[in-house]
Order: sequence, then structure tokens, then C-alpha cells
Amino acid sequence: MLARMGKPARQDGASSLTPSVASDSFKLLLSSGCLLAGVTHMAFGVLFYQAKVLPMAQVNIASVLIYVLAILLLRHDRVALALFMVIAEVAAHAVLAVIAVGWESGFHYYLLIVIPVYLVNQVNKWPFKIGFATFIGAAYVALDWYWRKAEPAYQMDLGTLAYLHRFNLVTTIAILSGLTVLYVHLINQAEDRLHELATTDSLTGLLNRRSMLAALSHEQAVRQRQPHDTCVLLVDIDHFKKLNDSYGHNMGDWALKAVAEVLEAGVRDMDLVARWGGEEFLIVLPFASRDTALAVAERLRTAISDLRFPSKDHTLRVSATLGLAELRADERVDQAIQRADAALYRGKDNGRNQVVVG
Ligand code: GH3
Ligand code: MG
Ligand code: MG
Repeated sequence: MLARMGKPARQDGASSLTPSVASDSFKLLLSSGCLLAGVTHMAFGVLFYQAKVLPMAQVNIASVLIYVLAILLLRHDRVALALFMVIAEVAAHAVLAVIAVGWESGFHYYLLIVIPVYLVNQVNKWPFKIGFATFIGAAYVALDWYWRKAEPAYQMDLGTLAYLHRFNLVTTIAILSGLTVLYVHLINQAEDRLHELATTDSLTGLLNRRSMLAALSHEQAVRQRQPHDTCVLLVDIDHFKKLNDSYGHNMGDWALKAVAEVLEAGVRDMDLVARWGGEEFLIVLPFASRDTALAVAERLRTAISDLRFPSKDHTLRVSATLGLAELRADERVDQAIQRADAALYRGKDNGRNQVVVG
């Protein structure tokens, strides 16, 4: 059975009805990048402090504070501002470090990380993204051309410089790879989430009508190839409108979720349970005879009438009427559902809270 899930959260630039999984993913990507960068700068700060290069230690501590601030901004959905701060920090830090200890130190590599991160951002439009990424690329080439030959402010010994260069190169590769792996993981997760949103009912977590229709046509195809007993069961909550009107929609929603849980728990894993309409559910029982399905239906009806509401009014009860139909050899599933529906309405006319076979 499919897992239950909550409502999608509201995100930057998306309508409140649209799940913005891409924005969510980018926010998480940027937060992880900030965390990684914050820890790296903290390590650099300590190293520079121990080496008694105090200005560089201070620059790194300032960077850590910027990353902490960016993470806080991201938590409050201020993605554009956080992105601006991160890019400004990386660019300023790379340029300052190159001015201080020279191109050979390899601090400029970090500038390259800005390009892919900026291109996947969900805040700016594509022409702007391409324009800015091109600017960063061109600035990098210009810096390479100018600073490769320029004299740094502090002359480091060649051994330390070579070590620093390798360290920065390896760290840049690690950050780029880490962010890529994380991004792919987030995309896969987002795909799963979208699939769940498209196939399940957000209130009850059951299959929605669309995915049930797809499952029904699959069941039909399997039956043509390998004939077997199949039963369909329509479940309709009794006097649901009255429940909503008397106790409010929240209580109505509670009843829908509680009934959905009873139905899901009361059938086998291979059975299909869907929210078919407002307060109506459809259950498909493949490889179940009429007698087996009747026993299942009675069990479900009893379990529904045993539900107790979270209310001080102990007389408050919910019941359901169930219509059952066994598929005939030459019958389509939708025809059997129509028979189950007719049986259900006979049950409504006969006083509700009962199972009727069509
Ligand atoms: P019967 O016993 O004949 O089935 O009567 P009923 O009141 O259950 O049926 P009717 O079709 O008259 O009313 C169904 C009600 O279900 C009306 C609608 O407002 C309510 N409903 C539909 N979807 C939802 C929902 O998601 N949440 C809540 N709280 N109510 C819903
Ligand atoms: Mg009803
Ligand atoms: Mg109904």
C-alpha cells in the first residue's frame, strides 16, 4: 500500500496549490553547501589563527558568520537573499585570497562552484542565470589572465603554496561532487514525492480515482490473460452530509481518514483501496470469491461502526453501506462497479449500515 503523506508546502514563486519540489530541493542544496562551506572556513580560520596570520583568520570567521546567516535566511524562505550572500562571499573570498597569496594558491577554484549552483537556482529566470554564469566564467578567465602573472601581497614559500594549491583543488572537486550527488538524490526524492502526489488522495493517503482507473485497466488485462475471481466493493459513508453539517468539516475529515485506515487495514496487501469520490471508497479484491468478499465486506462494515469519534458526544457514530459485485466472465470492471453501485443504493433505501450483493 502507498504511504500516507501530508499537504505540499508553499514555496517561493509557486502557487499555494502547486507543490514546488524544485524550490525545496534547491533550498536544501544551498543549505548543505552553506554547511559544508561554513565548516571548511571554520577549519581555515583555525589554521590561519595557529599560523598567526590574523587578517586571514578574521576573514574566515566573517565567512562562517555569513554562511550561518545564509542558513537562517533559507530557513525563513529568503532564498534570493541567501543566494546573493553566498555568491558575494565566495567571489569576494576567492578574489581576496588570490590578491593576498597569489593565483598559485588555488583559491580561485572555489569561484567555479558558483556557476553550477547559480544555474540550478529556482529564484532567477533563465536569461539572467545564463548571463550571470557567463559573467562569472568570463571574470574567472580574466582573473586567470591577470593574476597568474601578478605579484601577491604575501609571498609564501613554494612548498606551502604547492600544498595549498592541491588542498584547494581537492576540496573544490569534493564540494562539486558532493553537491552533484546531493542534487541527483534530491531530484530522485522529488520525483517520488510528485509520483505520490499524483497517485494518492492527499487527505486519506489512499489511491486516488485516477490511479485506481489505471490499476483497473491493468487488472482487466491480467484477467483476460489469466481468468480469476475478482470482486469490487463500493463503500459509502452514511449520512455524511449531516455529520459535516452538525459537527463541522474537521470532524468529517477525521471520519474520512478513520474509515480509510479501517479499509486499508482490513484487506490484503494485494487488494486495491481508493477514495473514489467525496465519501465513497472503491475496493478491488483480485483472487477473491463472492463468499470471501462478502466476509471481508461484513468485517469492514462492523469495524467502521465500531469507530469512536474524538468527541465528548459518545452517541456520535459513523456507519457505511457497502455494495458488492463479483465480476462475471465476460464483464468489464466498470460494469461490475455499476452493479455494486446499484446494490449500494438498494442498501441505502433499505436503511443503510449493511452489505448488499449486486
Ligand atoms: P447517504 O447516507 O445517502 O450517503 O448520505 P450522505 O449525506 O452521506 O451523502 P451526500 O452525497 O448527500 O453527501 C456527501 C457529503 O460529503 C457532501 C460533501 O460536502 C461531503 N464531502 C465530500 N468530500 C468531503 C471532504 O473531503 N471532507 C468533508 N469533510 N466532507 C466531504
Ligand atoms: Mg454517503
Ligand atoms: Mg456518496
